[in-house]
Amino acid sequence: MEHEDKHSELEIIRESVIKLCADFPNEYWRELDRERGYPTEFVQALTDAGYLGCLIPEEYGGSNLGIREAAVILQTIHRSGGNGAACHAQMYIMGALLRHGNDQQKQAYLPDIAAGKRRLQAFGVTEPTSGTDTSRIRTWAERDGDEYVVNGQKVWTSRAEHSDLMLLLARTSERGSGPKPHDGMSLFIVEMDEALGNGIEIKPIRAMLNHNSTEVFFDNLRVPAKNLIGEEGKGFRYILDGMNAERILIAHECIGDARWFIEKASTYAKERVVFDRPIGQNQGIQFPIATSYAETEAAALMSAKAAQMFDAGQSCGAEANMAKLLASEAAWKAADACMQTFGGFAFAEEYDIERKFRETRLYRTAPISTNLILSYIAEHVLGMPRSF
Ligand SMILES: Cc1cc2nc3c(=O)[nH]c(=O)nc-3n(C[C@H](O)[C@H](O)[C@H](O)COP(=O)(O)OP(=O)(O)OC[C@H]3O[C@@H](n4cnc5c(N)ncnc54)[C@H](O)[C@@H]3O)c2cc1C
Repeated sequence: MEHEDKHSELEIIRESVIKLCADFPNEYWRELDRERGYPTEFVQALTDAGYLGCLIPEEYGGSNLGIREAAVILQTIHRSGGNGAACHAQMYIMGALLRHGNDQQKQAYLPDIAAGKRRLQAFGVTEPTSGTDTSRIRTWAERDGDEYVVNGQKVWTSRAEHSDLMLLLARTSERGSGPKPHDGMSLFIVEMDEALGNGIEIKPIRAMLNHNSTEVFFDNLRVPAKNLIGEEGKGFRYILDGMNAERILIAHECIGDARWFIEKASTYAKERVVFDRPIGQNQGIQFPIATSYAETEAAALMSAKAAQMFDAGQSCGAEANMAKLLASEAAWKAADACMQTFGGFAFAEEYDIERKFRETRLYRTAPISTNLILSYIAEHVLGMPRSF
């Protein structure tokens, strides 16, 4: 019975997101892609509908829903041809603040984030020289009275120009000063309006896809010490907590993409006639699409399992990682099958396939690349020796 209630609740959310997305058709996304624009109106509509505050507890003005509901929202956006990457981080970045911030910080920020008055959707972790080895970041925050002074650089900080707040990871003591390489990093909330021109400079990165990513430079940026989240030196642990949520949500975006590609491809394969027969009559066309369908539905089961475990408070590192791995691979295969099915037309912008193809490719690399997930499974699930 509980299962049925949940199911119908999720269906209601799905249907209302489909309706919302209908106001933002493919032409909208295509135009933004062309000009590398930010979907301000779309994000506003999601905010007004309360979707971006869905994971925030009611006491802070959110709707206190679970990862399953958030996953349905993002999956439906991608299934409709849109892209949730412009705002998905507004849903989950606040998790570090919610779980590890003090009461004053939570009261100061969470109600505004829930109401969409302030956007916390920039997450500054990656740096040009550290790569996936976050323990090697160099951005440094030096305590000076009741402030920290930050110097360094981040890269690929998405949405920094469209965020009022940034969650920033910086070193406060040298690597090696604690027992673990990841000790000695701290997490801060940076208020962007005060910081811009006063120690922060943002440079957009022109990229393969429209992701509003940037380089962020810190030059003696002063951050009040009250903006430190939790204890100094424990910042990496705080962001680790949020990574399962991120992986589960991105997995669902990939499932949405994969289903969009499969529907496009199978529909076109039935209609396009070459050599006097629909191309979909040829097994060479059918099989890649059918394979993608099977792989997508398997990935969807793993993603649903991970979301359910997350909402039940069970540890789900393995499932969240496998969901992200399987879903991003399934979406990429579906994208390629769709490209191949459409022949030359796939390359024309007006079909949206090349745009979605570029967009879905990201998830094999970010927020965590396939190899790193495989090494997690090998080491932490299967107990094989650590390789790096
Ligand atoms: C569009 C976009 C948006 C992004 N948004 C954000 C953001 O908002 N905030 C943020 O902090 N970061 C962001 N990122 C950064 C992203 O998380 C990283 O690019 C990603 O984690 C990979 O890190 P890297 O680019 O440094 O690759 P590297 O770490 O240099 O790795 C390069 C390749 O080598 C492989 N590799 C590395 N080490 C090993 C190993 N030991 N074994 C096997 N293979 C290995 C990796 O899997 C990868 O394929 C974004 C990236 C992109 C492209």
